[in-house]
Amino acid sequence: MGTQQTSAELFQRASAVVPGGVNSPVRAFGAVGGTPPFFVKGEGPYLTDADGRQYVDLVCSWGPLILGHAAPAVVEALHGAVDAGTSYGAPTPGEVELAELIVERTPVEKVRLVNSGTEATMSAIRLARGFTGRSKIVKFAGNYHGHVDALLASAGSGLATFALPDSPGVTGASAADTLVLPYNDPEAVERAFAEHGDEIACVIAEACPANMGVVAPRDGFNARIKEIAHANGALLILDEVLTGFRVSASGWFGLEGVAPDLMTFGKVMGGGLPAAAFGGRAEIMDRLAPNGPVYQAGTLSGNPLATAAGLATLRGATPEVYARIDEVSARVAAEVSKALGEAGVVHRLQNGGNLFTVFFTGQEAVDFDTARTTDTAVFSAFFHAMLDQGVYLPPAAFEAWFFSAAHDDAAVDRVVSALPRAARAAAEAQG
Ligand SMILES: *Cc1c(COP(=O)(O)O)cnc(C)c1O
Repeated sequence: MGTQQTSAELFQRASAVVPGGVNSPVRAFGAVGGTPPFFVKGEGPYLTDADGRQYVDLVCSWGPLILGHAAPAVVEALHGAVDAGTSYGAPTPGEVELAELIVERTPVEKVRLVNSGTEATMSAIRLARGFTGRSKIVKFAGNYHGHVDALLASAGSGLATFALPDSPGVTGASAADTLVLPYNDPEAVERAFAEHGDEIACVIAEACPANMGVVAPRDGFNARIKEIAHANGALLILDEVLTGFRVSASGWFGLEGVAPDLMTFGKVMGGGLPAAAFGGRAEIMDRLAPNGPVYQAGTLSGNPLATAAGLATLRGATPEVYARIDEVSARVAAEVSKALGEAGVVHRLQNGGNLFTVFFTGQEAVDFDTARTTDTAVFSAFFHAMLDQGVYLPPAAFEAWFFSAAHDDAAVDRVVSALPRAARAAAEAQG
């Protein structure tokens, strides 16, 4: 202890006291093989690991850091906040400002702050059930909404069958009220409502799914599922934990314009600290305690450090910031396609706004089944060749690549120059 240890030493130490050595499974490199670097510093577009290696970071903390690591405005806001004390468990001005900003940029009328995306979706579902007085919920295969029991469910056999637990520890009872449908298939939603319409409280969907790789909704899909839900007295929840304030100042809503009854936010709105939110129509939100009977609470909700970081991030996210992220994402996407094309690698690049995923398959990904045709062994080869050259990609095939406005031309050039070798590694793995 005390002396600086290598990533390998830290991973060994961590594995002795933390399951798998990590506090969130994807970090363990299980999907790509090898052991993860332990990071000690982030600066702009770069991360430095415990071994002193520097990487261009294309994970950005899984989305939050649209201004890059240690963005001066965020660091300054945090210094100011921390000097005033870390938590009061009582109302603060920062919460009001952050809630106002969310209301201003999205269709929600009222919003409640929580600590994680998981809490946001869990609370939104409880509220939808409380508001409608119904139990059942519809979700889509391959859409991720955090590790909420009722949402860790996978499709049973046949469309009319309610879901099965997707993890040991999730009871049959918590999965049994969840109906899991294929994504991008409005007819499956119609059939589910024809059969169970008066029992369904809500449909929840990622506004633009990015957790099975980026699989954008087909034109009109979000509008159609809203229509079907409303025709049956159910609510639509669009989950923008990942896309909110990242794909535009107003998230996916800013690109598509379908206003759901409830929305969930996280990631960017916390600026790298734990903050998330759910919001929606005032009539629904006012059913929450203390105004209404639906209970929801949090000791650290609206924490002053988290709101300070979130506010600094959202205020710093100017039109120029989104223009830069869009530009960098488009350039890297084009260069990835070019390098893979030249190496003869079968692939498809799919985007949703400035988020994209490279699928190593010839098949278009429109739902979970087609997304899963990507060759994960090819991704692993590509990933490790990029890592060896100092580019840190999300360590799993079913993820989006994340950029920030701090990704300057020098950082992007480093990514681009690593691509030909990674493409050759992918070609070899594809055989
Ligand atoms: C990350 C994510 C969540 C869960 O958020 P956590 O803060 O990790 O609990 C929920 N929904 C979507 C779409 C996400 O990408």
